Amino acid sequence: MSIDAVARFAAGWLALVAWSVVAFTLVERVRPRHVDHPSVRRIAIAALLLAVNAGLAQIVIRTAGFHGGRVVVTWLVAELFHYALHRAMHRVPLLWRIHRVHHEQGPLAWTTAWYLHPIDAVLIAGASVAAAAICGAGLPTAAWYVVGRRIWSIVLHANIRWPATPLDMVIATPVFHARHHREDLAPANFAATLPVLDRIFGTYRCASTRNTSACETRRSGTTEVTM
Ligand SMILES: [Zn+2]
Ligand SMILES: [Zn+2]
Repeated sequence: MSIDAVARFAAGWLALVAWSVVAFTLVERVRPRHVDHPSVRRIAIAALLLAVNAGLAQIVIRTAGFHGGRVVVTWLVAELFHYALHRAMHRVPLLWRIHRVHHEQGPLAWTTAWYLHPIDAVLIAGASVAAAAICGAGLPTAAWYVVGRRIWSIVLHANIRWPATPLDMVIATPVFHARHHREDLAPANFAATLPVLDRIFGTYRCASTRNTSACETRRSGTTEVTM
């Protein structure tokens, strides 16, 4: 990487960290689900992990060279790859040892999004690049997808009281992903942005007692609720 590229990367990292600290510290105070807010130390470690993981993702993306551009198709294929990867991470003991870093951070907060083992981050970036390559999409498409996914991930993990609505079946929301982090229930809701994948593969679980029709789980024959 040239000095220019390193400076651009550092500026982007700083802008994202500054924006997230201000925006989510405020948002999490307005409608928190719980009162366990991240400490300065926790924010600093999360920001450091973000820098390492974003740097590794950059290297993966820059290493792959391809041309073209199909944003929506790339997004759909990448989501499918990420869904499969995420399920494997919960199922394969070796991968779980890597992914558990993300799951063992206590109560959810926006900083949880950045608590990823570097190998986890490389695998996610690799899946994004593979999807872009298969779809004939360009490097900017893969990069924008990785950045967009990372920003949405901050929202997904935020400590905000987000009502469960039918929207949870269309796009991943904080309440949808909070169910994924429940340790007392079987792993579910693996999708990063598209819950339809969980619907197709039978891993969708509802997030609220109000959304009862979505709570039916055919596999277990029971009704599962969270929050
Ligand atoms: Zn997980
Ligand atoms: Zn998570």
